[in-house]
Amino acid sequence: MKVKKGDNILIISGKDKGRTGKIIKAMPKELKILVEGINLKKKHVRPKRDGEKGQIVEIPAALDISNVKIICPKCGKATRVGYLIENKEKYRICKKCKQKI
Ligand SMILES: [Zn+2]
Repeated sequence: MKVKKGDNILIISGKDKGRTGKIIKAMPKELKILVEGINLKKKHVRPKRDGEKGQIVEIPAALDISNVKIICPKCGKATRVGYLIENKEKYRICKKCKQKI
């Protein structure tokens, strides 16, 4: 998977198109991510103890990674990720500025 937890991304489709956020969870098997503050869904939370009230919280729902572009921390542009093999290590690089990210 080309993105990982902690990456800043730009949403390129859907209702949150144009917004940016930070990945709080990556799910490589499903090719999905959770992004802080993006694609929020309301969820009812049941009271855990007697006397507590249930409440409605907004939590991020998973986004498909094809709906996002990574924002390069080096040049600040939304970009695609490339790979570079150097000394048998694999690095991600920004396709715009060619820096390791
Ligand atoms: Zn860059």
